[in-house]
Amino acid sequence: MRAFAPHSAARHGLALCHVCELVSPVRNVRCPRCRSRLHLRGSESLQRTWALTIAALILYFPANLLPILKITSVTGDKQNTILGGVVQFWQQRDYLVAIIIFSASVVIPVLKIIAIVSLSLAARTGRRPFGMTRIYRVTEFIGRWSMTDVFVVAILVAVVQLGSALSIHPGAAAISFAGVVILTMLAATSFDPRLIWDAAGRAESKPND
Ligand SMILES: [Zn+2]
Repeated sequence: MRAFAPHSAARHGLALCHVCELVSPVRNVRCPRCRSRLHLRGSESLQRTWALTIAALILYFPANLLPILKITSVTGDKQNTILGGVVQFWQQRDYLVAIIIFSASVVIPVLKIIAIVSLSLAARTGRRPFGMTRIYRVTEFIGRWSMTDVFVVAILVAVVQLGSALSIHPGAAAISFAGVVILTMLAATSFDPRLIWDAAGRAESKPND
């Protein structure tokens, strides 16, 4: 039997329906109102979150090391990595574009991965449940804007192609990059925040050392 937080509904055999949010006894198996399946904690939630996060972390390297843009012009071909692009925009004094690309493609994915890893660790240790729940909400919120990263690249390709005789194509990193975005989104959704409170309950009921 899993240990649940002392004041949780789960301890009393109650579960929240994920479809209509009715709380009812889990032994009903199905929600009495909307007939969808009831379950307590997503038991593989944590493993799935870890697996998706590790996969995202692995893809993060080719996303940044491989060229994201391939520029073909009269003077020859040129390839650019994300950071190379940021540096180039900065040198051309397009500071705003440089900052947007840097935060969308470097800062946000890294913060997202760090947040998901600390949440997964908290689901084990149960430390600082209030702070962790706040981190979860922020991660969920950022998740909605994840696609910004991919959009920035898409818009960039379109804008540059309009303005000049250059032709620009997405490079190999673009696929890895989309992979990072999708995997971190899935990792965040598969994480069950109630696990933090279960772990907090276990930590509380154990004698302090
Ligand atoms: Zn229901």
